[in-house]
Amino acid sequence: MSFDPEAIRSEFPGLAELRDGRPYTYLDSAATAHKPRCVIERVAELLGPAYGTVHRGLYRRAAQMTERYEQARRTVARFLDADPGEIVFTAGCTDALNLVAHGWGRAHLRPGDRILVSGMEHHAGLVSWHTAGFKPEPIPLRDDGSLDLEAYDRLLAAGGVKLVGCVHISNALGTINPVAELARRAHAAGALFCLDAAQSAPHLPLSVRALGCDFLAFAGHKVYGPTGIGVLWARRELLEAMPPWRGGGEMIERVSFAGTTYAAPPARFEAGTPPFVEAIGLATALEWLMAQDRAAILAHERAIYDYAERRLAEVPGLRRIGTAPERGGALSFVLACAHPADIAAVLDAQHIAIRAGHHCAQPVMERFRVSATARASIALYTTRADIDRLHDGLQTCVRLFG
Ligand SMILES: *Cc1c(COP(=O)(O)O)cnc(C)c1O
Repeated sequence: MSFDPEAIRSEFPGLAELRDGRPYTYLDSAATAHKPRCVIERVAELLGPAYGTVHRGLYRRAAQMTERYEQARRTVARFLDADPGEIVFTAGCTDALNLVAHGWGRAHLRPGDRILVSGMEHHAGLVSWHTAGFKPEPIPLRDDGSLDLEAYDRLLAAGGVKLVGCVHISNALGTINPVAELARRAHAAGALFCLDAAQSAPHLPLSVRALGCDFLAFAGHKVYGPTGIGVLWARRELLEAMPPWRGGGEMIERVSFAGTTYAAPPARFEAGTPPFVEAIGLATALEWLMAQDRAAILAHERAIYDYAERRLAEVPGLRRIGTAPERGGALSFVLACAHPADIAAVLDAQHIAIRAGHHCAQPVMERFRVSATARASIALYTTRADIDRLHDGLQTCVRLFG
């Protein structure tokens, strides 16, 4: 098997040339990825001729939709090397991490218990704890944007840590964290390990067994699937010991005005009509991704990332933020002459989409003493031509503002 980025690009209608024949340069896949045609067509089929609800219906389409929804759970399980009974469908990665904080955290944490999260955590893995009434402590970052592992050991050694939360790949810095090692050290200190895989799921093969995590969350729309769907995986014993966070239909065993007994996981955590169209659309995206030559995709993405770093280094006054030895996916930078928002506006005029801002990681911005960065991010459909246009656009910025 091999991999042809040009051929795969043609499967993405959202990346097509503009009407006047100019190229569209999409470098914001870390925020959300474009969808292959098979996913778009699947969602249209599900909302159209195949439509019917899950669980309740006795008619054919409802029964078929229910079967496809449960099949989607099995596909996600295969994607994560996990058990289907441990896959909870959520509204997104944010929702999944909130389920950990509000479901597991509120049931199991006592006053004095400590939570550690990386200093490069996405707000989803930090604010979720704040809203649940907890105050995680940061694992500090080194100047290159990697985690300070000695500081991590000291924080663990101080005792009382019950959970460590960490992003697999930082959306703001591109740092790839040594998660299996982080999990091992957390377990040795008696803590659970919760992995935010929102940025790694599109790039790296994931195995919850090999990673040794206890919770894992990701979002469908960043892995070439629909919006409005995410996944929380957790070890079965953890799910069984977790009370539901939201109450409603389909998550119950028996209800009376005296009280409710709850269904077993994963149904316990899927109150109401679930986003079944999105879940099946996600499974289509994952099937599509798993059918590709993933080693070749990874090699292509690495080559594009390296190429982007070389081209960005040619731009006068450009400073990269996030230069950890292990990095990928996203490249953050600032220009001496222009604010990130101005860079993004100049690039947009050339139909080049990048992100500018704090990337939902304000503590990272504070750590590197910038108010915002510009960020280009890559996906399997990114080509050298995209990077060349980014380079040329940045040279335009330097001419305009420099
Ligand atoms: C995007 C992202 C999230 C949040 O995902 P949503 O789809 O917005 O719920 C969480 N963590 C990381 C690292 C992300 O990149």
